[in-house]
Amino acid sequence: MARKEIRIVDDSCDACIEIGQDERAVDVIRVGAMVYHLCQTHHEKFATYFADLFKKAHQEPEPDPRPTVVITGNIRGYTAEEAREAAGRLGYRVTGHVDADTELIICGTRPASHKVREAEEHGTPVLDATGPRTFGRCIAAGKFTPSGALPKTQRKITTAPARSAQAV
Ligand SMILES: [Zn+2]
Repeated sequence: MARKEIRIVDDSCDACIEIGQDERAVDVIRVGAMVYHLCQTHHEKFATYFADLFKKAHQEPEPDPRPTVVITGNIRGYTAEEAREAAGRLGYRVTGHVDADTELIICGTRPASHKVREAEEHGTPVLDATGPRTFGRCIAAGKFTPSGALPKTQRKITTAPARSAQAV
């Protein structure tokens, strides 16, 4: 946070000197090793300028309003690029990772197991797009509607299932 400081400055305004004028400085700004003396007019000008810069520095980036989907695995009749483009044309943002904001995971054949696990963790709605026309029908309908379930991940070699099996 900017601090208030009262200074008595006995010098000429550096900004005024630049334009061939001489005005008594009432303030000093220091940026690194540089010190600038400023008259009242220039003090106000720079204060506004800096306030603006700080505001900009703290502004959150505009959130993207588009719903996000993750497409994984092979979608019959589409290359990965075509599938992404088709989803983009419907107004979806296609991302590479499932997170809490992901609206839908679209699973083709042989989906990436880590993405399926991410979707399991987040309880992400699923569109099973392994059917021959599933993806195309959604594109024609203008939206993706969840249907089906996540495929079983095959390479899930962890000790967790074994342990829960013992517990049961
Ligand atoms: Zn000045």
